[in-house]
Amino acid sequence: MANMMKGFAMLGIGKVGWIEKEVPKCGPLDAIVKPLAIAICTSDVHTVYEGALGERTDMILGHEGCGEIVEVGSEVKDFKVGDRVLVPAITPDWNSLEAQAGYSMHSGGMLAGWKFSNFKDGVFAEYFHVNDADGNLALIPDGMSVEEACILSDMVPTGFHSVELADVQFGDTVLVIGIGAVGLMAVAGANLRGASRIICVGTRPVSVEAAKGYGATDFISYKEGTIEEQVLAMTGGKGVDRVCIAGGNVNTFESAIKSLKPGGRIGSVNYLGSGDYVNIPRVEWGCGMSHKQIMSGLMPGGRLRMEKLSSLVASGRLDVKPEITHVFHGWEHTAEALELMRDKPKDLIKPIVIPD
Ligand code: NAD
Ligand code: ZN
Repeated sequence: MANMMKGFAMLGIGKVGWIEKEVPKCGPLDAIVKPLAIAICTSDVHTVYEGALGERTDMILGHEGCGEIVEVGSEVKDFKVGDRVLVPAITPDWNSLEAQAGYSMHSGGMLAGWKFSNFKDGVFAEYFHVNDADGNLALIPDGMSVEEACILSDMVPTGFHSVELADVQFGDTVLVIGIGAVGLMAVAGANLRGASRIICVGTRPVSVEAAKGYGATDFISYKEGTIEEQVLAMTGGKGVDRVCIAGGNVNTFESAIKSLKPGGRIGSVNYLGSGDYVNIPRVEWGCGMSHKQIMSGLMPGGRLRMEKLSSLVASGRLDVKPEITHVFHGWEHTAEALELMRDKPKDLIKPIVIPD
């Protein structure tokens, strides 16, 4: 293997480009992986263009992809060179105290399970490093395309995590705010969990079409009146049982609280790229006594989740293909794919780059 590699990096806030770096070193528990496909995430856009994580210099971007193992550490038991693997966006240190406490995504500190393109170089490179390979990687099931494998990195686990956080139950009416790639997976997850009605906030035709396929029943636009007014009008003034937040901003929580029944629950996976405070409306929050719960989080990551969620795709219970609207061949399209994700043309859900 060469000593040096190319990577597509954040050079500073608002600036991206290709740089040369040393190929990462493989520790005893680690793996070095060569990407078979990578996907651009809205989170890359928050990181680069909003500077949401703060200044980062020459940090290779990307946390969504799948690949082929080119090197494994001496202590890795279950994977070998040549294995084609699913790679979760979040790769915790599974022996950390935070993981033992049930919060693997915060292993080593808040959000520190999110290592790619946050605390270390990401996957938009000729090679990338995976810590705790046995704990984090999973084999790509036979017959699964590399594009589908990319959707399992982050979109499926994150959308489904919002459903877990909201604790959707049989027969619930669920509001999904934002139906980009993450929100669509929240719709699919709520449907699998037995929601009876799924109201979506979003109007892009490509997303609406996909959402219908995933089980959405109603649609509203946040540009045509407040979300809560529309939701209350549609539910006879009662509101919804659960809200999954996968889009919007710091003000979205206000709409979510106002749309929720007492005892209802919010599951937010939105990455708040700007704003200093989240406002909770006092009166609609029952003056603090409404039992309206607000849960929010980074998805947990790890191998078990990858294996379980990929089995849903492999068994045909979940079709991720409607998520994939743009596929590019060749690394040279990475910048274009990132710009597409930033500009969100009407026909886009998820852009993927296959290095070839
Ligand atoms: P996206 O931009 O494709 O979709 C967001 C949706 O929200 C769009 O449909 C948009 O129309 C809608 N929206 C925008 N402003 C709104 C507003 N004011 N009110 C209501 N809806 C609004 O994004 P995505 O790729 O689906 O990702 C969704 C969010 O999840 C992003 O913030 C992303 O960074 C975050 N994310 C979080 C995690 C995690 O682990 N928690 C992982 C991946 C992505
Ligand atoms: Zn992502």
